[in-house]
Amino acid sequence: MLKWKELYDECLNCNKCELKNSRNNMVFGEGNPRSRLMFIGEAPGADEDRLGRPFVGRAGMLLTKGLTALDLIRERDYYICNICKCRPENNRTPNEVEAEACLPYLRNQVALIKPKIIICLGSTAMKYILGSDWRITRDRGKWIERKGCYIMPTFHPAALFRDESKKILFWQDLKSVKRKFDELRNDL
Ligand code: SF4
Repeated sequence: MLKWKELYDECLNCNKCELKNSRNNMVFGEGNPRSRLMFIGEAPGADEDRLGRPFVGRAGMLLTKGLTALDLIRERDYYICNICKCRPENNRTPNEVEAEACLPYLRNQVALIKPKIIICLGSTAMKYILGSDWRITRDRGKWIERKGCYIMPTFHPAALFRDESKKILFWQDLKSVKRKFDELRNDL
């Protein structure tokens, strides 16, 4: 397992998959690595690729706004990153080869952070973290305990722009995250 700085440098210089050709910036992750709450999305979008920061575009701002309303602050309370560290062209879903190439970096991040709570944002994160038997519309909002870590899938915030009806369910899920965070606060 690499330490934080070594891991960052390895990602920065990585050319293990084709996404190296479409990225402007590698997007490693952001937030408090000492918090035990982690959000994991799919891959950087255009704004994230331009700025080298995760979840800073329209969807990211919506997520941040919801979490801030619940007094969950990125710099203090959680760490956020993606399955893939580089942007696929036209925001397509990363393919399995790309995701599998990048997953060791995420596993290394998880091993360093040791989260007690992981939130999978969208079906791609859910698939690579929980497995392919799970369905986002059926299973979102459920807590799954694995080795003492509570994992919950929910919608990717970008999906809320395509289907407004998901906003209420997403908000319910964020409130559930806050309750779990408060419940486990002494362990976090
Ligand atoms: S997506 Fe991941 S594996 Fe692919 S080039 Fe970027 S850092 Fe490397």
